[in-house]
Amino acid sequence: MIKIDLHIHSTYCDGKSTLRESVDSAIEKGFATIGFSGHSYTFFDESYCMSLEDTERYFTEASWLGRRFKKKLTVLVGIEQDYYSDQPIDRYDYAICSVHYLKLGEEYIPVDESAEILKSAAEKYFDGDMYALCERYYETVSDLTNKWNARIIGHIDLITKFQEQEKLFDEDNPRYVAAWKKCVDKLLETQPLFEINTGAISRGYRTTPYPSKEIIDYIRENGGTFILSSDSHSAETIGFKFDEYEQYIEDKTVQI
Ligand SMILES: [Zn+2]
Ligand SMILES: [Zn+2]
Repeated sequence: MIKIDLHIHSTYCDGKSTLRESVDSAIEKGFATIGFSGHSYTFFDESYCMSLEDTERYFTEASWLGRRFKKKLTVLVGIEQDYYSDQPIDRYDYAICSVHYLKLGEEYIPVDESAEILKSAAEKYFDGDMYALCERYYETVSDLTNKWNARIIGHIDLITKFQEQEKLFDEDNPRYVAAWKKCVDKLLETQPLFEINTGAISRGYRTTPYPSKEIIDYIRENGGTFILSSDSHSAETIGFKFDEYEQYIEDKTVQI
């Protein structure tokens, strides 16, 4: 089984486990490498990201744990950089770049908070046209490499998070398909790693990982590569269901 997991949150942001608890769990599970990826500071919404002060503490503690446990485990210090963050990412070992909001008018609308919020955003800004909202979402994702020189693209189709509970749009609709294909084509120009992210399964929102099978196949057919991520918000879910999805990962050694 793949023993690298670079998408792990902690109590410094919206996770339930401390960094140390995740290190202990990863060692117990036999991991060779883990990376912490705290949510980058977003000035317009402090509810789930790390505060600026905590970002410093997080960096110091994660770096220290890396030195302390280096004989048992490689601990990388990363960040999950939101598209709209304004904090630099240079000091981290890597960044997972993700779109969690859409900036519509002067508002930052969360993509992953509820189906209700997405529906009312479509009403307010797109005359109820969910496909126009999806198009805006994928345009924003497609700019991740341009804005942040993204090496890892987080949960590319996060906009589908609530589809199993409340279907907001048809994923076979040609406008939806065209939107994600255009986005993938743009991202492929710089050959980032695309996440196969099992986080919404472990947290009960979905039965399949991000992205959809269609998007995975399209990325593969066009020469893209993947990284498996648990998007863990607690120590027990590190490596969650990696055995089921590692078939998609051709190169089992990830170069960051
Ligand atoms: Zn995320
Ligand atoms: Zn995450």
